[in-house]
Amino acid sequence: MSHVLYATRPVILFSQNYLPMAEINLKRAAVLLVTDRAVPLSLMESGDEKVWQMRSPHRILNIPKHIRLTVGGSDRIWKVPPVNRREVLRRDRHTCQYCGSQKQLTLDHVIPRAQGGQHTWDNVVAACSPCNTKKGACTPLQSEMALQRKPKAPMNPVVAFAEQFWKERKT
Ligand SMILES: [Zn+2]
Repeated sequence: MSHVLYATRPVILFSQNYLPMAEINLKRAAVLLVTDRAVPLSLMESGDEKVWQMRSPHRILNIPKHIRLTVGGSDRIWKVPPVNRREVLRRDRHTCQYCGSQKQLTLDHVIPRAQGGQHTWDNVVAACSPCNTKKGACTPLQSEMALQRKPKAPMNPVVAFAEQFWKERKT
């Protein structure tokens, strides 16, 4: 099939349960449509939503901006990842949560373990070695060091995508 690409991933794929899941490219959308694994989904009452066209020698395939899976099982089971160095650094985008440095990163217990702090998503953050040393066995309050944002467990990426999608449509 030959086609013109206006955006890399112009089609929004919804789950069978109408949960917006991901942005996909036209080729993947076409495969899902021609194999009946997805159907067009209209979000507007007027119905005049953007439609992409893919042409081959044998047919013209209209690909709407939104498609919905007809099959289940794609809402993959997702579990909150364990609190370890790799996952915490990923959540904190490899940035010290006190000063913003991206060097010499360590893990810091916001409430120190000696003061009863837990090894949990809301109490472990990425911190550079100098900040960690400066903070020592103190809480942020005691050491007068402020966190750039409140730590929390990572969100299911599918749910996060859905929330972002609906937020952008409202504005
Ligand atoms: Zn730092």
